[in-house]
Amino acid sequence: MSKSNHLFDAIFEPTKQSPDLFLINNNGKITYSEFHKTINQIANLLIQKGMKPGERVAVQAEKSNLQIALYAATLKAGGVYLPLNTGYTLSELEYFIEDSGAKIIVIDKKIEDQLLSSVDKSITILTLNSDESGSVMDYAKNQDIKFEAIERSPEDLAAILYTSGTTGKSKGAILSHKNLLSNTKVLKEYWKFTKNDVLLHMLPIYHTHGLFVATNLLAYIGGAMIFLPKFDIDQAIEWMSKATTMMGVPTFYTRLLSDQRFDKSLTNHMRLFISGSAPLLAETHKEFEDRTGKKILERYGMTETNMCTSNPYDEERIAGTVGLPLPGVELRIADDQGNEIKQGEIGIIELRGENVFKGYWQMPDKTNDSFRKDGFFITGDMAKIDHKGYVTIVGRDKDLIITGGLNVYPKEVETVIDQIESILESAVFGSPHKDFGEAVVAAIVRKNNSLSEIEVKKYLSDKLAKFKQPKKIIFIENLPRNAMGKVQKAELRKKYKSLFEG
Ligand code: AMP
Repeated sequence: MSKSNHLFDAIFEPTKQSPDLFLINNNGKITYSEFHKTINQIANLLIQKGMKPGERVAVQAEKSNLQIALYAATLKAGGVYLPLNTGYTLSELEYFIEDSGAKIIVIDKKIEDQLLSSVDKSITILTLNSDESGSVMDYAKNQDIKFEAIERSPEDLAAILYTSGTTGKSKGAILSHKNLLSNTKVLKEYWKFTKNDVLLHMLPIYHTHGLFVATNLLAYIGGAMIFLPKFDIDQAIEWMSKATTMMGVPTFYTRLLSDQRFDKSLTNHMRLFISGSAPLLAETHKEFEDRTGKKILERYGMTETNMCTSNPYDEERIAGTVGLPLPGVELRIADDQGNEIKQGEIGIIELRGENVFKGYWQMPDKTNDSFRKDGFFITGDMAKIDHKGYVTIVGRDKDLIITGGLNVYPKEVETVIDQIESILESAVFGSPHKDFGEAVVAAIVRKNNSLSEIEVKKYLSDKLAKFKQPKKIIFIENLPRNAMGKVQKAELRKKYKSLFEG
């Protein structure tokens, strides 16, 4: 009887002989059958380098077709894939290597020498550069093009993803074969993906969005991906005519909308635009619909839980909401004790389902603190749910501002500020204040420089309760964002922590 590898067999195996295209970009085209040969060669290489089932392969490399083969090969050879943000510094990298205990590390040639001198000699270092050169393929091309998948059960680990937390030590979220596969199966049905789909892929692949949501799904259905290194407006516009779907973070959509070439004729043939990883402004949703006649489908998920809610495919897509819990996902809005609260009230999203991760790598206490006794995971996202079941996220619990003992949810204030015509976007946060504990502060990006602090305050004066109105307004050029488009509130809090001193 042949052995089974839960995730690999379901996602990649069916396309083994397929002549269909999998990856398309400026470097050419790769069919599934070519891709499988490379997977097998890399899997043989990993085994030759001593990788045992369950061992971690840490990868910090620029996005490339080969990196997807490396991911699939790690799974097939029974390993645990550990992709790392390309922005991490050498000292951060050393932390991830030590914390994860990875025995094989794949990095860009540029940092090989530095890393060689700092990591344990028992660790194998391979290189993979942005142009796909490097020792991974140099060694792999001489390997056998056949490889029998190593047995892995649904509960075995498939990946570790360090969370993009902006404060404290990064935690490795451990994801099982079952966590990933169950989510892919649900998304296929929910978003109606078929093998005729061609996804415009401009996301990073060290993150759950670009790697699992996009890549697992397209490989699972046997579709194709236009696999571009990153978001580039000219490339996006050029390639869109060949795609049927796109997954993006909100900044992709705002950048597309800021270009007049992006219009109805460019998008008429597109079946679906999906957004996630950060909040999509209702205004962007509307502007997109006005321009293209199509409604962006917004969904919500996180590294730890994969995708958990989504606006529906056929039914109403409501701007400003992240839609309904996906099939198989139990979602409740709870108070800080985990008790479900009344519908319509704001609380913390808690989740349970096959999609939810197994815990944090070697952090039993953190894992314990993150789950309720009944198995629900405490996301830290504050939200409310309407009578139809649609979820609206209002912020992160740590973003909550408590001023004079009263709670202010930044999202509520931002929504009102963003309605001002000459304002592009805003981020509201708390700054230490000796009378109020914290004071509400708004960082605002203007469309032009005409608006003053007094005018903004005057506009807000009859729209928000006094305690919610910003005590201080700061005009800035851009909001600080990470690679996934998330506004870095911790950075703003740090930079403006002394605003009310003295
Ligand atoms: P990450 O683990 O990097 O994917 O980040 C997950 C976090 O991103 C969630 O906990 C949310 O705070 C945020 N997030 C993801 N999708 C959305 C969305 N559609 N709207 C608002 N926030 C989102």
